[in-house]
Amino acid sequence: MSEEVYNHGRGDPSEMLRTLRITSLDEEEDEEDAPVNDIHEDDNEEEEDDEGEEEGQEPVSLGFVESPKHSWSLSRELFPSIAGGTPAWLDPMNLPNGKSCFCDFCGEPLQFLLQVYAPLLQKESTFHRTLFVFICPSMSCLLKNQHDQWKQHPEKASRSLKVFRCQLPRFNSFYSSEPPRHNGSDRPSRAGAVLCSWCGTWRGDKICSNCRRARYCSQKHQTAHWRSGHKTECRLSSIEPMPSASTLNDISAERQKVVNNRLWPQFEIVNEDESDAVESGHNEFDKSLVSQSQMDESIKSLLDTFEVGGDKKTWASFQERISRDPEQVLRYYRFAKAKPLWPMSSDRPSNMDVPRCSCCGGPRACEFQVLPQLLYYFGVENNAGSLDWATIVVYTCEASCNDSIVYKEEFAWVQLLSQSATTL
Ligand SMILES: [Zn+2]
Ligand SMILES: [Zn+2]
Ligand SMILES: [Zn+2]
Ligand SMILES: [Zn+2]
Repeated sequence: MSEEVYNHGRGDPSEMLRTLRITSLDEEEDEEDAPVNDIHEDDNEEEEDDEGEEEGQEPVSLGFVESPKHSWSLSRELFPSIAGGTPAWLDPMNLPNGKSCFCDFCGEPLQFLLQVYAPLLQKESTFHRTLFVFICPSMSCLLKNQHDQWKQHPEKASRSLKVFRCQLPRFNSFYSSEPPRHNGSDRPSRAGAVLCSWCGTWRGDKICSNCRRARYCSQKHQTAHWRSGHKTECRLSSIEPMPSASTLNDISAERQKVVNNRLWPQFEIVNEDESDAVESGHNEFDKSLVSQSQMDESIKSLLDTFEVGGDKKTWASFQERISRDPEQVLRYYRFAKAKPLWPMSSDRPSNMDVPRCSCCGGPRACEFQVLPQLLYYFGVENNAGSLDWATIVVYTCEASCNDSIVYKEEFAWVQLLSQSATTL
């Protein structure tokens, strides 16, 4: 095998999240022992967790959103990190199916929130590795999700927020083993599954019985498409000749236009170390899509919702840390022992509340967290019933285990402001 180093980056500041979580598995085994020469000087660090002062000492990669530079910038063969729009499935064939694609509360197909490309280069099986986050846009479902996340038997819990981990070795049937050139000439080695004509997200296993062209993930999306114009379109397209039968090799068929206009706008997520972000101008609001005053207003109104001391203090330090790079939408932790930056001291999971990996039974660790700033870029209104969260923390299998399940479901914990404001 070649010694050549595969360059995931593209030689610019948007070099993606990689060589992350520099952890050896041996380190994890001493978990029960008292920490000796730990990077934290305080032996009682676990117990003093409530203070929230030990958080975030390790380097953090911040994610920022940018409009994609080219029409092809977010194609799956470029291994992008994406917020909004439709996912760029890493394994484009063996997509999540069945119940996994739906909100367990309202039954609607989940909407794509974001994906993070986070390869772990120390293992062959994780040469490519992407985490996908999906959410039901209904706030009442997210409230139920928050309630259910406390349940001790995760297999029985319902979710409106789901995370999938997919990984591929360097040599695989979908992509070249050589790094992409990023000049618009890259192509995947083979086409993926045909996706739903409405959401462009999930597998389109159901077909319109009239035109035999439109494909759907669900009855709900077939109905939505029919009402929004397929009714007319369908009659026209059924008289046109069928497209060539070689759809299996037709990569362009995969990139069909998606008609659902309720998808969030699509951005590329670029990353930068937290310590560098201040100097490099990601906190300059001239370039910003959200004005400083807009951001200040919303942060102030959130702060007003806290009356109780503990949460107010935690919120203040959360806000202070975020305000150094106010446009960040994601915080990616490179160390397995990292702790997320919690907006609230209450409503945090203990180690017991984070279920073990459903594939290998090993522990899960915090890998990244999503900030509510993303909702501003998505244009989600700040109304009473609108989708909102204080943070979403994603926990993944520490071993990033391999399994026959291609899209392994991981665990997400959500903290909600609206909920705490009403229960405090
Ligand atoms: Zn729902
Ligand atoms: Zn669909
Ligand atoms: Zn049709
Ligand atoms: Zn595992």
